[in-house]
Amino acid sequence: MTQTRNPLAVYKLLPKTNCGRCYLPSCLAFAAAAVKGEKKLADCPYLKLAEAEKFVGGVEERDPDEMKRQEKVADLQKLVAKLDFSEAAERLGGRLVNSSLMIKSLGKNFMVDRQGKVSSECHTHAGLTIPLLSYIVESKGGEPTGDWLPFRELQDGAAMSPLFTRKGEDGLKQLVDQHTDLLELLIDLFSGQRLVAGFSADISVVLYPLPKLPILISYWKAEEGMDSDLNLFFDSSASGHLGIRSIYALAVGLVMMFEKIARQHS
Ligand code: SF4
Repeated sequence: MTQTRNPLAVYKLLPKTNCGRCYLPSCLAFAAAAVKGEKKLADCPYLKLAEAEKFVGGVEERDPDEMKRQEKVADLQKLVAKLDFSEAAERLGGRLVNSSLMIKSLGKNFMVDRQGKVSSECHTHAGLTIPLLSYIVESKGGEPTGDWLPFRELQDGAAMSPLFTRKGEDGLKQLVDQHTDLLELLIDLFSGQRLVAGFSADISVVLYPLPKLPILISYWKAEEGMDSDLNLFFDSSASGHLGIRSIYALAVGLVMMFEKIARQHS
């Protein structure tokens, strides 16, 4: 990939709308990230790649999955823009701050403006954008019950359960097997809570990726003759906040985020 080293040259090619679809707060931030190699030019859907090609001497292919993600974000943003934010704040466990909606995810503040643009102090937030916007659009409100269910027992969960086990629980189990302090680290990084009573697991951690949608991670260490085990549980009210596909995307997206964190800390 050939890239220019001058952020202003990249900036000149951008529409300067600061729309956030590249998951950065502004076009200038995108230009700076592009020259550092932290973003591909193709991550801005509005950049004319043919023009960029002349300029930087090489064209990048747009990733079809990334384009689909950006389209999904754009669709959700249109729905968010139609919402009454005062009603939404109450329904979602958020707050109104200067006409934006503030929602906590994993202990960090996320701001969603009137156009559905998401910004956060959390630099790993790209994977949370779609679940967060889906929650704003889909959630019917209601408080967590404190009753935990496996994925397969959630509404419509049975059909996707084998895939969820493979991509979500098995992936996270392998990660915790390799990085034994990972769950403790997640408690520190993401304001998690350690559950001590009522669970037979060696460690049980509750995280709040969305204010009213907690996830419980229970891990059993390997013992003589027995492999380790890990299960993810959801509050029984979860289906009132997100459809099963969004719950799947949220949990599997978190596992991918934890993989990145584990790599950074190892
Ligand atoms: S997606 Fe493109 S137009 Fe939107 S903020 Fe990023 S660089 Fe600017």
